[in-house]
Amino acid sequence: MIANCQCKKCSQMLAFEADDVGATVSCPNCGSDTQLVSPSIPPANGEKVDDGEFYVWLDDKAEGPFQSQQLIELAKQFPEMAWSFAGGSEWNRLADFQKTIEKVRQKDLADKKTAKLKALRIQKKEVQELKRQLSANMTALRNEARRQSSGAGGTWLGLYDSELAASQRRGIRQKKEALILPLEKKKAIADGILAQIDKQIIELEAS
Ligand SMILES: [Zn+2]
Repeated sequence: MIANCQCKKCSQMLAFEADDVGATVSCPNCGSDTQLVSPSIPPANGEKVDDGEFYVWLDDKAEGPFQSQQLIELAKQFPEMAWSFAGGSEWNRLADFQKTIEKVRQKDLADKKTAKLKALRIQKKEVQELKRQLSANMTALRNEARRQSSGAGGTWLGLYDSELAASQRRGIRQKKEALILPLEKKKAIADGILAQIDKQIIELEAS
């Protein structure tokens, strides 16, 4: 990777191998000793490297910011030029730019996929818990109705009245069904949501 900096005395541009940063050489123009330095990389603006935050090492300075497409174009002409990104810690070969950002993008996509899958699994657990509560409530209502039905038909004389029992049981059943119906509707909605979540999880895992 070819880099450059200016002679501190005569400002002559010195081209050198980037690996030689820090070395002291004698300037071919004025002959005085000068240290080969690399330009400082601008700090990151936000938290994350985004498009349009790339820099190249040009004439002693970090030139930019550029967008990735601009660096891809530059790399065709100047594969040995150095590039970095805002907040970066080192300069790299422009020839490797495309490969490097492709890796970053792949990792970014993989991270987003992982985060989305995690969120979907949490959501699934919550809906499953809601469904479990609805089932428990329905079971409790059915048990209560069964308990009431078993006592139906008893008169104050302690005798069993089968007509009264039938009418009371009908009433108990109607009341139970009226209470259970909205819970069943909620459960059906929860099932629909769960099916949607499962579909999303399968699609994400396959992507
Ligand atoms: Zn010089």
